[in-house]
This record gives sequence, C-alpha cells and structure tokens, in this order.
Amino acid sequence: SSRAFKPNDTIVKTPHNQIGGHNLTLMAGPCSVENEEMIHRVAAAVKAAGASVLRGGAFKPRTSPYDFQGLGVEGLTYLREAADENGLDVITEVMSVEEIDAVGQYTDIFQIGARNMQNYELLKAVGRTHQPVALKRGLSATIDELLNAAEYIASQGNFNIMLVERGIRSFDGTYTRNVLDVGAVPVLHQLTHFPVIIDPSHATGHADLVTPLAAAGVAAGAQGLLVEVHENPAQALSDAAQQLTPAQFAKLATRAQKIHELD
Ligand code: PEP
Ligand code: MN
Repeated sequence: SSRAFKPNDTIVKTPHNQIGGHNLTLMAGPCSVENEEMIHRVAAAVKAAGASVLRGGAFKPRTSPYDFQGLGVEGLTYLREAADENGLDVITEVMSVEEIDAVGQYTDIFQIGARNMQNYELLKAVGRTHQPVALKRGLSATIDELLNAAEYIASQGNFNIMLVERGIRSFDGTYTRNVLDVGAVPVLHQLTHFPVIIDPSHATGHADLVTPLAAAGVAAGAQGLLVEVHENPAQALSDAAQQLTPAQFAKLATRAQKIHELD
C-alpha cells in the first residue's frame, strides 16, 4: 500500500472510468436498490448530473436485523441493467465470502462496508478476484488499520483498491452521524498510492450537510465522491435522512467539478 513501494498514483481502471490520479470520479445512487423502476430513474438522473458510477445496495448491512435487508440478487440484476442502459459502472457492497461470486457477476467495483473493514477473510477473498475494490474505513478505525486492511487485499495480488473515508465515530453524534476526517485525505496521499474517495453521505447522516462536506473533501484532494441519491428521500427504505434528491446532487456535482478544476 505504501508510497515508498510505489511512488506513482495507482489508477483503478473500470469499463467506464480511470479512478485516481488527477481524475474526479462521481459515484451516486440510492442507499438501497428498492425496486426496478426507481434504480432506472435514479441512474438516468445521476448520469445526467455527471456521475459515471452507479451505487446501490442489494445486500445491506443494517444496524437492526428487522430493517430492510436489501433485494439481494434480484436487486443486483436491476442495478446492472440500469447502469448498462446509462453507460455507468456499478459499485455495490459485498458482505461475505459466499456472496463474492454472485455479486462479482454484476458489479464493476466491490464495496467493502465500514463494518467489514477488518473482516480479513473477506478482504483476502476479494483480493483473489483481482477486481476493483472500494474499501471503506471502519467506524473507529485508525488510518494505519485502514492501510493494513488494504494490505490484506493487495497481499493477494489485487492492487485495484480505492480507500473510502466515510466518517468516523466521535463523542458527539447530535448533529452529524459521524465525523468526516478531511485530514485523512492528504495523509493518505502521503502514505499510499491508492485513490481516496469521500463518502459525505454516511459521514454526515443529514442531507443538508452532504454538499459542504463533499466540497471540503474535493478541496482536500479526494479523487472521487460516493453520494447517496434518492428520488424521494423521505420515503427511502434506508438512510432516508441523508439522501439527496437528483436536483441537489446535480448542484453538488457542479460545485465539486469547479473545486476540482482549481487544482
Ligand atoms: C452504504 O454505503 O450504504 C453503507 C452501508 O456504508 P458504510 O459501510 O460506510 O456504513
Ligand atoms: Mn446508506
């Protein structure tokens, strides 16, 4: 993982993107794929706003086992079709070693969720696929723990890794769900050659905080944003408070691009 080992930025190549280096890649879509129609409409909307990767959870790591757990493989088929129809790549979470083959048939990028950052068997297994992996920082993980987790993937010969800062737990969750560690972006650029992505949605938990923190992340040097977008956030089956409408995402995308161009 270290810059000393590989001085130049790693560029993670997907069918439609080159993630890392001087590029800014916008990844957007709902927290969960809820049905076929909604993912097609959101895909078209985020594409029009400048996104090039479609996100959407089909296997969901919900805090409560009684909450919506995702549509599983059915959701993956809708996600893939919606992405293909709009010329987008797919990113979606894989939660267990057993799911890797199924998820891998539909996705371009495996997302490893924050709760699984230190699931070493899962990390080694996605490492063996050699497919792109977006590794989310754990809820209370240090930067060194994040880099060691990336090392588990790289140790299997898979260097197609991007690191996702999605906010860490702190003492005050009153107004922000987590605390976005903006400083992690330049620190990670010093320590590692892997692309750094900001997820301002899970970092804040509130839709009105997402755009300011996305802007901060890009200003700090993030090479991508992972943003939750839903047609009707209030009705979302997961993470209702933090999802942006397509119109709000379009504004975020314009602002992020302008800030990125300043560099
Ligand atoms: C998600 O991306 O929907 C998600 C569950 O993220 P995290 O693992 O960062 O909580
Ligand atoms: Mn979510």
